[in-house]
Amino acid sequence: MVVSAFRADSLLTGSGQRLGELRPRHTWASVLDDADIWQRTEDVWDLLNPREDHALPPELPWSEELRQLALAEYRAKFDKYLEPGGHHEITWPPEGYLTSPGSWYVTEPGLCDEHADEYVDECEECRSLDRGGQVVDRDATWEWTVEVETWEPQENADGTTSIELLQTDPWTIGYTDVDPREVEYGPVKGSPYRTEMVRKYWHSRRRAASE
Ligand SMILES: [Zn+2]
Repeated sequence: MVVSAFRADSLLTGSGQRLGELRPRHTWASVLDDADIWQRTEDVWDLLNPREDHALPPELPWSEELRQLALAEYRAKFDKYLEPGGHHEITWPPEGYLTSPGSWYVTEPGLCDEHADEYVDECEECRSLDRGGQVVDRDATWEWTVEVETWEPQENADGTTSIELLQTDPWTIGYTDVDPREVEYGPVKGSPYRTEMVRKYWHSRRRAASE
């Protein structure tokens, strides 16, 4: 996968579509090279659980700057509904959910009048024909969600006031579109294999970061 530069400016302004410019720092397979991780080579799915339950969210560059941007955007929109003295906080990093696995299809090569599907380099017609291959007609989409905590002053029985967590709500900060053939899949969510894989991934990433 392409790892492009992180651009913090205006990532979240408006609809948050700029999140689409973030690219994974690492693939799961490159960090855990002996793990049961795969990418689809054909647009078929025959496992019991749906694709979104096997998909492994890419590790995007979820920096502190981006967290501040997300929080500032939420506050600008929703702080006006707070009781005086209240405030909002968000969890970080966001959770990824594969809302669309995307789709692609295979096209057949065009047929030359003279050479049919035998491609002949010197033939002008052969060269002009569609060679066939895979065509992505819909990107896969990751939805990124944080939990927003609403803290508000509550009056206690003894007459004092304290700031308490009133409620927690999910808030979608944006989406990332990727080639459906690049989506990595692994053990199903909730399984011990998955939990172990996620633990190993972050253990390895933290170790690499401290070296
Ligand atoms: Zn030909």
